Amino acid sequence: MVHGQGGVKFQNWAKTYGSSPELYFQPTSVEEIREILDMARQRDKRVKVVGGGHSPSDIACTDDFMIQMGKMNRVLKVDKEKQQVTVEGGIFLSDLNVELSKHGLALANLGAVSEVAAAGVIGTGTHNTGIRHGILPTQVVALTLLTASGEILECSESVNADIFQAARLHLGCLGVVLTVTFQCVPQFHLHEVAFPSTLTEVLDHLEDHLKRSQYFRFLWFPHSENVSVIYQDPTNKLPSSSASWVWDYAVGYYLLEFLLWISTFMPSLVCWINRFFFWLLFSSRVENVAISYKIFNYECRFKQHVQDWAIPIEKTKEALLELKAALENNPKVVAHYPVEVRFAQGDEIWLSPCFQRDSCYINIIMYRPYGKNVPRLNYWLTYEGIMKKHGGRPHWAKAHSCTRKDFEKMYPAFPKFCSIREKLDPTGIFLNTYLEKVFY
Ligand SMILES: Cc1cc2nc3c(=O)[nH]c(=O)nc-3n(C[C@H](O)[C@H](O)[C@H](O)COP(=O)(O)OP(=O)(O)OC[C@H]3O[C@@H](n4cnc5c(N)ncnc54)[C@H](O)[C@@H]3O)c2cc1C
Repeated sequence: MVHGQGGVKFQNWAKTYGSSPELYFQPTSVEEIREILDMARQRDKRVKVVGGGHSPSDIACTDDFMIQMGKMNRVLKVDKEKQQVTVEGGIFLSDLNVELSKHGLALANLGAVSEVAAAGVIGTGTHNTGIRHGILPTQVVALTLLTASGEILECSESVNADIFQAARLHLGCLGVVLTVTFQCVPQFHLHEVAFPSTLTEVLDHLEDHLKRSQYFRFLWFPHSENVSVIYQDPTNKLPSSSASWVWDYAVGYYLLEFLLWISTFMPSLVCWINRFFFWLLFSSRVENVAISYKIFNYECRFKQHVQDWAIPIEKTKEALLELKAALENNPKVVAHYPVEVRFAQGDEIWLSPCFQRDSCYINIIMYRPYGKNVPRLNYWLTYEGIMKKHGGRPHWAKAHSCTRKDFEKMYPAFPKFCSIREKLDPTGIFLNTYLEKVFY
């Protein structure tokens, strides 16, 4: 019989949200998950499935039953001809990246970290950058769901096609994602070039930058014009490594945390800290070559609050200039660096922030130096107001203030998703507080 542990405290990676599940399970088989669902039904409990627990919101929290999928993490099949891999939902992308490279394959795009589960990253619509690349769920060609009734549903473009369009970005509310099949590409290396620029230059020549680099993104240092442009492109060059560069960054970030902590007593310092670190770490050209996943992933050193909305790509310039003007006009609103600007291709996934439109993601951040919360309400409200005005849709993993009414306006296919959810989970066993705000 499956064993649930009491007294476990769940906390997300940033330690910004947490909960105390009554029972915490790490099942090793579908039969065990069915047992947990039966037990939950008998005791009138809800169930939350988690992967890497990286979501910077309460989307993965519950005080009822929590299922952590870390022990269902096998690679089930590698189809070299189709370049597809089928994995269990709990596998971390860090393990998958290594497995794939043994077969000469890779995922075409990845987010900033890989200590996240296959089912978790697709569940919240994780994205990276590249205007000819969709968000990570667009790489999914099939998946298997264990629904609330204990039934196993296979879904793909040709089998249960409607459920597939919902489940590729599932929010954890349609059932337990048992397996995911990803379309891969041949393994590749990336050449990364980072160089300094200005916000005006980048926004005036956005089209050129998007054409010039397959995985183009940029970091804007708020309270200034400073920008770091980052191009990443496939290359045949041999891997290089710059030890002193890595060392500079490590030392720089210790100093940054200390200075940000000081600035919690003198917020006006933040604009100088942003400028100083641009000068220290981002004002010269840096190049690097490595296997794709080592370039896509980068170290997020310390804990932070974030927001990340996707707006139609044509609104990029207007929205960023409005954010810049709002910060200039309200000196009391303080913004840590960077504002990270990334791009993604439109898709047909019902709850994708890029549904039917090429998009620009604007990610804002407030660090928590030594775990201390820095006031962010004014910055958050200013940013959300601008994002909403430009037709933005929030990242599902990251905290936002939207409710069902907002999502009904943002997502044309929202009613279709709701009707599938209600059919697959009529009693709401997979809901939690976050999801209640989305669906009720
Ligand atoms: C340091 C850091 C860097 C990040 N970088 C990026 C980035 O570059 N781009 C980006 O878009 N996001 C980024 N994120 C956000 C992150 O990619 C998402 O939060 C992602 O969902 C995390 O995956 P996870 O496995 O930790 O999911 P969790 O947080 O554990 O869960 C997310 C959702 O998936 C559900 N879920 C998980 N597994 C299953 C399953 N087997 N069956 C059903 N439901 C399941 C959960 O119930 C929950 O609703 C970052 C987060 C951090 C902390």
